[in-house]
Amino acid sequence: MSVPGYSFTLFSVASQPSILEPSANALNGLPGFEPTAIPIRSSAVIASLVKSLKLGAYSLSEPESGSDASNMKTHAEKDGDHYIINGTKNWVTSGINSDIVIMFCLTKKGLGAKGISAFVIEKGTAGLTTGKKEDKLGIRASDTCELYFENCRVPEKNMIGKDGEGFTIAMKALGGGRIGIAAQALGLSRAALDAAVAYAKERKQFGKTILNNPEEYFTDEIMKQLDEVASKEFKYGGENS
Ligand SMILES: Cc1cc2nc3c(=O)[nH]c(=O)nc-3n(C[C@H](O)[C@H](O)[C@H](O)COP(=O)(O)OP(=O)(O)OC[C@H]3O[C@@H](n4cnc5c(N)ncnc54)[C@H](O)[C@@H]3O)c2cc1C
Repeated sequence: MSVPGYSFTLFSVASQPSILEPSANALNGLPGFEPTAIPIRSSAVIASLVKSLKLGAYSLSEPESGSDASNMKTHAEKDGDHYIINGTKNWVTSGINSDIVIMFCLTKKGLGAKGISAFVIEKGTAGLTTGKKEDKLGIRASDTCELYFENCRVPEKNMIGKDGEGFTIAMKALGGGRIGIAAQALGLSRAALDAAVAYAKERKQFGKTILNNPEEYFTDEIMKQLDEVASKEFKYGGENS
């Protein structure tokens, strides 16, 4: 799916006043993993993600590295044709329900971002366990959890791209994901406004609905602006939406 199409999907789903809207967030990050975008050795696994046959998770953040993502501690040591991974990741959306995790860790210590590589890791791999489901304020239809890697042995062929390319791949994926998050926020704003307007049409004070006062113009104006922003976002996004 193109980034504009993906963004429009997130906007549309998030606009609906149902619990389904947050689950769309689990899609974030996948546009960066299109098989044609980067050299991928585990192309069959990625293809199943792109075709939505499997649910994927994206695991970059750690307890001590959030915005400063390259300051991670999780590392992989080469052992023959495998890597042995140790460390803790957190805030992993769909960490519990996903079939596959795309995970970023150090393969060369001391090189910062240039020492980070990306791996595809299938759930059920020995040494990979999940933490408790976080009790979030929102986006509750997708789970979020910690991931623990304890001597987790992963075949070398599961590396995405080349050794040291992981951070570039992570940022590329985030580029698409961030646009999706913005589209989702726009959709949620729309849903929140629709809910507030519906309530304001029912709620009566001083003998009339609270919408039926000089503020009415204000809510109409906000709706118009949201529509304008949404149409611009997707119009400028490209032709393939
Ligand atoms: C619901 C949810 C789902 C998530 N899903 C995933 C996921 O699937 N995969 C994943 O890898 N991560 C995920 N994350 C983690 C997310 O990417 C991080 O929360 C994000 O990178 C910010 O890191 P942090 O929370 O550690 O905040 P911090 O980095 O500690 O930042 C705290 C605040 O300080 C500000 N700040 C930081 N540095 C600076 C600076 N230099 N100058 C000015 N301000 C600064 C930040 O903007 C922020 O407001 C998720 C988080 C949440 C809440």
